[in-house]
Amino acid sequence: MRHDPERDAAAYLAGELGALRRLWFERHMLDCRDCWAEATTARQGRILAESLRVVAPPSMRERIRATADLTADLATEPERRRWPYLLLAGAVAMLIAVALTMALRLMTQPAPLLAAAELQRADALTVHQEPGPPSMRIGAYTWQGTAQERLDEIPATVYAYATPDGRRMLLITSTRPFPRAAGARDLKPAPSWLAEVDDASLLCADKDGTSWLAVAADEATVLSAGQALGLTRQG
Ligand SMILES: [Zn+2]
Repeated sequence: MRHDPERDAAAYLAGELGALRRLWFERHMLDCRDCWAEATTARQGRILAESLRVVAPPSMRERIRATADLTADLATEPERRRWPYLLLAGAVAMLIAVALTMALRLMTQPAPLLAAAELQRADALTVHQEPGPPSMRIGAYTWQGTAQERLDEIPATVYAYATPDGRRMLLITSTRPFPRAAGARDLKPAPSWLAEVDDASLLCADKDGTSWLAVAADEATVLSAGQALGLTRQG
């Protein structure tokens, strides 16, 4: 339907529009600046509305009042124009939230892996001579003893190794698979991986139903442990 701001607004305020045309105009007015201005501020409309107060039947007075309330509610152009920007701001906020969630996922490592890194840093690990290690020596590292620990929810056997100059490495086994670290790099054979967790280097591999985790301060150490134990291979 074509609009005629002046006539539509006047007819609307006078209650002269047919039901369909009235519905159409009420909706149209919300998007049409001219009709909105005409219906809310046009002198003709105001005069008509005022004169109608006297002569209009009660139901029409209610209508006019309702229209005036609507006008007061939506009050003004800035209000009506703000919503697209609010939507845009909402979309931007959502994008930022998604990006933050992804960043957090990268920074937050599974609890068992954080526990393993913590164990590698801890000075005191109470070790026993049983069970014996998978290998007495791995490169410059010699087995010091074995401990039974829980890495978060995962029961694990921890073999502690050290070099003569005090560098430490842990070999950890469990019958339950360790979770994959965020930002892990694949090693062969799958699903082996290498990752940095909380300043420690972790190498994880599965073999014959046992999950292995090598934990040391540097990547070269855990990589050589993985190869020495036949867990991973180069390339
Ligand atoms: Zn219009």
